[in-house]
Amino acid sequence: MVVVLEKNITANQTLNIVKHLEEYGFRVHKTVGVQQTILAAIGVKPEFDTRKIKILDGVAEVYRITEPFKLASRQAKEDNTIIKIKNVTIGGDEIVVMAGPCAVESEDQINKIAELVSKNGAKILRGGAFKPRSSPYAFQGLGEEGLKLLKQAAEKYGLLVITEVMEIGQIELIGEYTDIYQVGARNMQNYSLLKELSKVNKPVFLKRGLSATIEEMLMSAEYILSNTNKDVILCERGIRTFETYTRNTFDLSSIPVVHKKSHLPIFADPSHATGMRDKVIPMARAAVAAGADGLMIEVHHDPDAALSDGPQALFPDQFSEMMRQIKLIAEAIGRKI
Ligand code: PEP
Ligand code: MN
Repeated sequence: MVVVLEKNITANQTLNIVKHLEEYGFRVHKTVGVQQTILAAIGVKPEFDTRKIKILDGVAEVYRITEPFKLASRQAKEDNTIIKIKNVTIGGDEIVVMAGPCAVESEDQINKIAELVSKNGAKILRGGAFKPRSSPYAFQGLGEEGLKLLKQAAEKYGLLVITEVMEIGQIELIGEYTDIYQVGARNMQNYSLLKELSKVNKPVFLKRGLSATIEEMLMSAEYILSNTNKDVILCERGIRTFETYTRNTFDLSSIPVVHKKSHLPIFADPSHATGMRDKVIPMARAAVAAGADGLMIEVHHDPDAALSDGPQALFPDQFSEMMRQIKLIAEAIGRKI
């Protein structure tokens, strides 16, 4: 940590700052410059709250030079985390597509969609059985029945399963049906849920919170990595800004940022990011070009009849076209789909 001192600082104030830093366990090295004096506080303390120093008299600025996350950081583990689930590898050269409806609605619906996504090269079937809806009056999902239908459809068409877990009490039940647990944007900072998921032996797909910084997303990943689970997949799904023409603002810059700061794979979800199907294909192309390790896409055989998120679901022929286009982009950047 670097502490920049105010120009007119008194000797006593400087002593007081040094005393505090030492009490917090740092070694202090003072550098007197022409313009300003700085204190280098030496000692890695990811948990340290820098405001404890910022608040002291005579402090102009405090800069952290190590990341507050450890297990998720590239410094802790240089190689990319590669996650193998049955015949699917995440985080390697291949860009993996997870696709399916927003929610599992019926046996017929999930089977039709599973067939279509599998035929077009997706590897993982998505579909909510427990849905975190913004309105309590909206369709909440089929619950366990939805999980059963999702797993059956996935098995029939050779796909893996991903579905959302909303609370600790659902972990065991969902674990019987899913290959990957999804933590939704609204639960990204549900730390008790994340702590429980750090003990499961299945990967966790962690979606960026609606107003979360990249650092906060990585801190949430840190919770999941804090026990035996080492398999976290991050997902950029857009953040809330002042923009109203899209549902969220798709922060694609988080992809190269995460790749630099962390060894964890990161996916992108242009469906929830934009909220409108006409924006999904262009942003899927952009996400692949930006280096996403995979995509999460909502698709429906009859979007107009979908019980949730119909306007952002791709029509079947649009999904095929998207897959065709992103394969070309993947090839251009030395990856494959
Ligand atoms: C979802 O993927 O079903 C979902 C609800 O997305 P998010 O948590 O990103 O809003
Ligand atoms: Mn949805």
